[in-house]
Amino acid sequence: MKDQKVLLYEMSWPEAKAYFSTHDIAIVPVGSNEQHGPPNPLGTDHLIAKGIAEETAKQTGVVCLQVIPFGVSSHHKQFWGTISVSPKAFKKYVEETCLSLNYYGVRKIVVVNGHGGNLYALMELARELREKGIFMSVFQWWTAASKLLPDLFKPEERRHAGAEETSLNLALHSNLVKMARAVDEEVGKHMLQGEGMTLPLSTIDETSSGAFGKTRTASVEKGRMVFNAVVGELVKHVILFKKAKVDDLLQKPKV
Ligand SMILES: [Zn+2]
Repeated sequence: MKDQKVLLYEMSWPEAKAYFSTHDIAIVPVGSNEQHGPPNPLGTDHLIAKGIAEETAKQTGVVCLQVIPFGVSSHHKQFWGTISVSPKAFKKYVEETCLSLNYYGVRKIVVVNGHGGNLYALMELARELREKGIFMSVFQWWTAASKLLPDLFKPEERRHAGAEETSLNLALHSNLVKMARAVDEEVGKHMLQGEGMTLPLSTIDETSSGAFGKTRTASVEKGRMVFNAVVGELVKHVILFKKAKVDDLLQKPKV
């Protein structure tokens, strides 16, 4: 498995043919380009998704596509450099990417999603693809990390651009993080906020720095722990998914 290429863009077409003739599974990382507070790069979400997806591909021998960098981020737009596409455009782009894979026989797709704002569009797509005979799973590292390492960070360190996410950036590309600019900012509470209430707020309604909660406690060591734990979990999923028969995963007939 060591010598086998797993990054699609590095393969030639005969190499891609050899892979897709014998495999029905692929990994598709997706993310966003949006503000992550003063210390972190705008690419945080797509760079982390790429890092997790490519390492998982190396450990499992499953092909990994280039990361799709732009996602659903309009709630961050008041902070400079955020690039956003609509849920409809994002869903369509991911769909057509998946259908290209399907042309070569792929019927199992693992989406590694680096940005929570993409989730609704991805799940809508996953249900539609299941009807077309393609089973798509979606992995989100922060959900896994809070279960796998519940004591590593406090809740106020686990939110957008907080210490946990910043730690992953430090572990994967520390040259892009300026910890001297890190801030701890208490998240503001909107006057209409209440239990059970969901409001169409933007980031700027709740924080002036773009970071939610504590960032300063980030470290490379904690980032490595999170990276290893979430990759380990995703590798387990990919191995199971690889073995599964896709027909067993599709919609059941009516009773
Ligand atoms: Zn993020």
